[in-house]
Amino acid sequence: YQSVKPGCHLRAHFSYAPSLDPLVPGAGLLLQHGDIVQVTECSGHRYWRGFLLQEPTRECYIPSPQLVGDHYEVVVERHLPYVQPIILTGSLKNQVQDHFYQERPEKFASCVPHTTRAPRESEMPAYDYHFVRRDTMQAMINSELFIEVGEFNKNLYGTTEAAVRLIAQRERKHCILDSCSAIPKLHAAKIYPLVFLTGAKSWRQLVEMRHGEIQEFEARELFDKDTELEKEYSKYYHAIVRESTLEGVFSKVLETIEKYSQDPVWIPACEW
Ligand code: 5GP
Repeated sequence: YQSVKPGCHLRAHFSYAPSLDPLVPGAGLLLQHGDIVQVTECSGHRYWRGFLLQEPTRECYIPSPQLVGDHYEVVVERHLPYVQPIILTGSLKNQVQDHFYQERPEKFASCVPHTTRAPRESEMPAYDYHFVRRDTMQAMINSELFIEVGEFNKNLYGTTEAAVRLIAQRERKHCILDSCSAIPKLHAAKIYPLVFLTGAKSWRQLVEMRHGEIQEFEARELFDKDTELEKEYSKYYHAIVRESTLEGVFSKVLETIEKYSQDPVWIPACEW
């Protein structure tokens, strides 16, 4: 944080309630996870000053990085020349994905992955998958063309950066992905996805929202997994969407996508 000067922007990866902080020297700024703060004063040891972008006239004290550790991220504003990919995670990711493909085909699309598996009779090359030989795929992996790769039933599967760009830049649609492991590779390629956790507020709701296709014990497991994901990837999530109905999940995700499509995009300064 030594490079931070007045005028710099920080994203808070924590929440801060000044009313609960007995040490804050004066009026403190209420911070919610994900807020962007413009720094106005950063010479103090324990407290700096700044304001929230949505409230530029309210300049207040904020805890300094010395107090909150690396829970701030220095960010810069950029306008992106592509439509941001969407990464869906959590126990309702398939329901959300299917709903968006069906209901909003003008806005969302899937990209075509590669696989070493043989095509099935009903499948069309370059539509369902790019079917390639294992040595070809391995050479492509070595050349770092993939943003994520996995193995299933002794076959390799993966998504290339080019496949994502085709949707994001040429078709100008949100490409839906489902793997958080792609995030670092996407960032390295200067592609900044919007990342969501989709789930329920309780495991009982999950049974209902998955229309009884899962048993009670599976719903409990999935629910616990969502809670783990929430902790592990909290820094990456643009929204943690845990609602009591599927419709609620769909509209919250859409609402967040729309909000981010209008606002400028704040990108980690270290990656730019
Ligand atoms: P299928 O061979 O039936 O089309 O897919 C079988 C499994 O391969 C899927 O359930 C999924 O786990 C995995 N798979 C399909 N596409 C991809 C992909 O793009 N990347 C990765 N890592 N796995 C995939």
